[in-house]
Amino acid sequence: MIDIHSHILPGVDDGAKHITESIAMAKLAVSEGIRTILATPHHKNGSFENEKFDIIEKVAELNEALKAESIDLEVLAGQETRIYGDLLADYQAERILTLNDGGRYVFIELPADHVPAYTEPLLYELQMKGLVPIIVHPERNLEFMESPNQLYKLVKHGALTQITAKSIVGGFGKKTKKFAFQLIEKNLTHYLASDAHNTKSRAFHMAEAYSEIETKFGVDMMYLFMDNAELLVQGKLVYKEMPQKIESRKFLGIF
Ligand code: FE
Repeated sequence: MIDIHSHILPGVDDGAKHITESIAMAKLAVSEGIRTILATPHHKNGSFENEKFDIIEKVAELNEALKAESIDLEVLAGQETRIYGDLLADYQAERILTLNDGGRYVFIELPADHVPAYTEPLLYELQMKGLVPIIVHPERNLEFMESPNQLYKLVKHGALTQITAKSIVGGFGKKTKKFAFQLIEKNLTHYLASDAHNTKSRAFHMAEAYSEIETKFGVDMMYLFMDNAELLVQGKLVYKEMPQKIESRKFLGIF
């Protein structure tokens, strides 16, 4: 199994604090069947900055440490970038790291409570440069929850999205879980990942989430997500189904 989103790098953000925690996380990941994991530290989220070459160097160090411990987990380099105005300029200045340094996929994190007005034009600009933006955990964004058509529009215009395993298993509450399932049902999401920060409060939940997806949507859906993660690591294009609109709750008169 491949996990494309984690905070397993030691001492760089609010994930693993030191190498001992990284190793504990690695062991837990392996116990769930994860063999390849992307380290995607926060960048420009107001608290942490982790630029491309620093991440690549630290990933190599972590791989060495895991080898020394005989842990069968390969760590690949990635970055979770909070959306900001100079993102494209910083990509050109080699501060932004594409996933597995493949030159194609970039993680984009939005603020938790809203979708900045420049999101749509910025995602468009990124695609004009040959990049594919992946919006991380849209199921946890309040504005998407209130008006899911905003997400539909972004996906229709080429953005991909990644939902978090903990959302699927109910760890962020019922509403988030329901919304995450709707996103799967309407082809508005393309990847499942852990976004693990530690071994306790923000653990992996990958095996459990995949099994819930299999139960609810069938084995093909589970394999679609798994294949997409594999394609991402290889820098290849993802399998996409036509996105569909989610009727807003206002429209249905549920308020
Ligand atoms: Fe994250």
